[in-house]
Amino acid sequence: MLIVMSAQATEEQVRAVCRKIESLGYRSHSIPGAQRTAIGITGNQGEVDAGFDEMPGVQEVIRVSKPYKLVSRDVKPDNTVVRFPGHSATIGESNLVIMAGPCGIESREQAFAIAERVARAGAQFFRGGAYKPRTSPYSFQGLGEEGLKIMAEIRERFGLLIVTEAVDYESLDLVEKYGDMIQIGARNMQNFSLLKRAGRARKPVLLKRGISATLEEFLMAAEYVMSEGNYNVVLCERGVRTFVDHTRNTLDLSVIPAVQRLSHLPIIADPSHGTGKRDKVTPLARAAVAVGADGLIVEVHHDPDKALSDGMQSLYPDQFDALMEQVRQIAAVLGRTMAAELSPASAINH
Ligand code: PEP
Ligand code: MN
Repeated sequence: MLIVMSAQATEEQVRAVCRKIESLGYRSHSIPGAQRTAIGITGNQGEVDAGFDEMPGVQEVIRVSKPYKLVSRDVKPDNTVVRFPGHSATIGESNLVIMAGPCGIESREQAFAIAERVARAGAQFFRGGAYKPRTSPYSFQGLGEEGLKIMAEIRERFGLLIVTEAVDYESLDLVEKYGDMIQIGARNMQNFSLLKRAGRARKPVLLKRGISATLEEFLMAAEYVMSEGNYNVVLCERGVRTFVDHTRNTLDLSVIPAVQRLSHLPIIADPSHGTGKRDKVTPLARAAVAVGADGLIVEVHHDPDKALSDGMQSLYPDQFDALMEQVRQIAAVLGRTMAAELSPASAINH
């Protein structure tokens, strides 16, 4: 259920509605918008008939028929913009956000060599897994906390924000401590207890689409995070499993406008996992920006033949530079901007 306050409603009137919701044992989510504040109710099993429409400042009480509420544009017509304290990067505005780095943090030298190049090319986020969900238990599982510490050093050195995956409660605690954005991977998109834990975190969440998730399942996963009070969620299309074998996954670009129609949350694309093949990453990155993605997350490795994971889909730094230049031009056609490429000196001395 959604309570829409009138444009003139006072803060006290909004608080009074929230108090009433909480006194009934439900959770209230006050969502300020450009025109008016809406208040979502979660935790109720059926309809809540408590006379909200009689309360001062209330304009309308809407029953939300869709299974998701907080992610829905019905609740919040304006796009969500995710911000990062102390950093100019935002996600969901007209600028595109670019996240880049290796699949996994393998060593300090490897991570620094790649970070230097992606920072110089104009990325705002450094990506890299310290906890790797691998198909085989014998494959490289990530450096754990050591990898997170390397990324924290990279933030200090290059001014890049850190996005990295949490695979369970324990790693989420650590990712929340060292990182700037908590990635929930495709394999965990329906790990509901992990989603709820991410919903109680104080850092934004990058939620990747499950390997065979429908649009509704994807949005419901975001709803889990938001229902716990964390409204800073960014969705990521990373390809779904289909019958084709010319790519690892099929990057479902149509889901981007489909999400944007239904939800106010930003959505970025991952053409690396979305294709699994290096030669297809740049074309699909261009296409994702052209359909309206709010940004990209791209795997880059300085020596992909020796990468401990996902070398086949990692771009060489020079290829990433070229991708950035192409994407910058596509962004301009769409009236969107991208952070400038840095001179080598400013990237290093940040
Ligand atoms: C990753 O980003 O390295 C990763 C494992 O992604 P996904 O969860 O989309 O497979
Ligand atoms: Mn990977």
